Amino acid sequence: MNQQEQLSVFDMFKIGVGPSSSHTLGPWRAAHLFLQAIEKHGSMSTVKSVSIELYGSLAKTGRGHGTDIALQLGLCGFDPVTFDVNAITSTILAIQQQQQLLLNGTKSISFNPEKDIVFHFSESLPFHPNALTASALFEDGSTIHETYYSIGGGFVVQDGAHADANSAFNSPKFKYSIDKASELLAYCDQQQLSISEIVIQNEICLKKEAEVRTDVLKIWNVMTACIYRGCHAKGELPGGLRVTRRAEAMNSKLTGDQRYNDFEEWTDVIRSGGDHFKYTLDWVSCFALAVNEENASFGRVVTAPTNGAAGVIPAVLLYYVLFCGTPPHRAKSKESAEDHIIRFLLTASEIGSIFKKGATISAAMGGCQAEIGVSSAMAAGALTELLGGTPRQVLMAAEIAMEHHLGLTCDPIKGLVQIPCIERNTMGAIKAITAAQLALNSDPTKAKVSLDDVVRTMWNTALDMNHKFKETAEGGLATEVPISLSEC
Ligand code: SF4
Repeated sequence: MNQQEQLSVFDMFKIGVGPSSSHTLGPWRAAHLFLQAIEKHGSMSTVKSVSIELYGSLAKTGRGHGTDIALQLGLCGFDPVTFDVNAITSTILAIQQQQQLLLNGTKSISFNPEKDIVFHFSESLPFHPNALTASALFEDGSTIHETYYSIGGGFVVQDGAHADANSAFNSPKFKYSIDKASELLAYCDQQQLSISEIVIQNEICLKKEAEVRTDVLKIWNVMTACIYRGCHAKGELPGGLRVTRRAEAMNSKLTGDQRYNDFEEWTDVIRSGGDHFKYTLDWVSCFALAVNEENASFGRVVTAPTNGAAGVIPAVLLYYVLFCGTPPHRAKSKESAEDHIIRFLLTASEIGSIFKKGATISAAMGGCQAEIGVSSAMAAGALTELLGGTPRQVLMAAEIAMEHHLGLTCDPIKGLVQIPCIERNTMGAIKAITAAQLALNSDPTKAKVSLDDVVRTMWNTALDMNHKFKETAEGGLATEVPISLSEC
């Protein structure tokens, strides 16, 4: 729990690389922080060697989640937002074969990933289950050691610091300080504003409104590119489980022999199929599968609020755009179509930040309720606002979505973000849509459980949950299903 933290929409939605925000993106960002620590100590050119030690969940499921890969790319100074994901395998192979790493792109050092990245499978550090310590030896014999915690959603905290080093924590103060849903609702009532209008007022304390709009739309563009790629990629997922990608086959079945050349034409084809229940349901599942198959393949995704749960929000937003919103070609202007997308993502981010402050978005702390449960609540609330719900109905929808994810365990087979993770995004998306419809058809003043109640319940459930179900791959499906890894 981290109340008083100021979280921007760009903290909750980060462009990165799969398969895990806590085990891939977080360690990648931690490696960048360590490069800064090296510069602070002396100079990159005087580094002799670097080593990393992984603890707790980062050690237990780190290999399946690509933690070792992310650390090497981070130490090389590559940016997770822009690094060509098609170059990951060749870059890692080159480091392995040459046993050399170009630190921050400037200083060549000996580096043997097998020896210099140590997995402490039975040791944990007290602050958070996702911990790593990075060490550097300099030519003058001096050393530095820094410990970082990857606390979920790509957020990283340095040992002894108060909040994510890259979040908006130290930025100018937001106009509306919000830790709880009740505070958010009070601002909506006082100001007669929707939730997205409150959020935009906070965001413009950090940057100009035009920039906020542009940057939020960039997030949406990465999400749609990911869906489109995932719907057109065949084959098996990496990691050795031999899981077959399904989004492509589903897309082919649903689109039949209709032709298209790009995303826009593809969405026209989808719309032309109508909006009957089974058709819509299949598309929502297809969108969610597509994102998480890309995520499992080290593709470019947006943490929403994590990578394992990255498919829920794009699937529900594309469902809105294609099946119940104002489609771009029917909107009065391009701007008004974009407004819908921006409002959705702003509202979703505020709900996510309430969960992050009052509970957790880390599966290593709270199991899958913290990932799929939170993403479903974010999507449910945002969809409700766009469908005309009041702020109370928005919060009610978020509450309903989380209420029916409480206690959901994290038990990925072989520690890979594939089973149950990929399908689980389809479930999170459908629950979000159901929760929105329930809230829109309900009187929220009669609700017995508030969003703050469910946030607190989720946190207490997380505390009571056995560690086997917190991203350790030591319980549930991970131990009950005897699948052996093939050589790959
Ligand atoms: S089971 Fe859920 S929380 Fe665990 S890795 Fe998969 S998606 Fe993430």
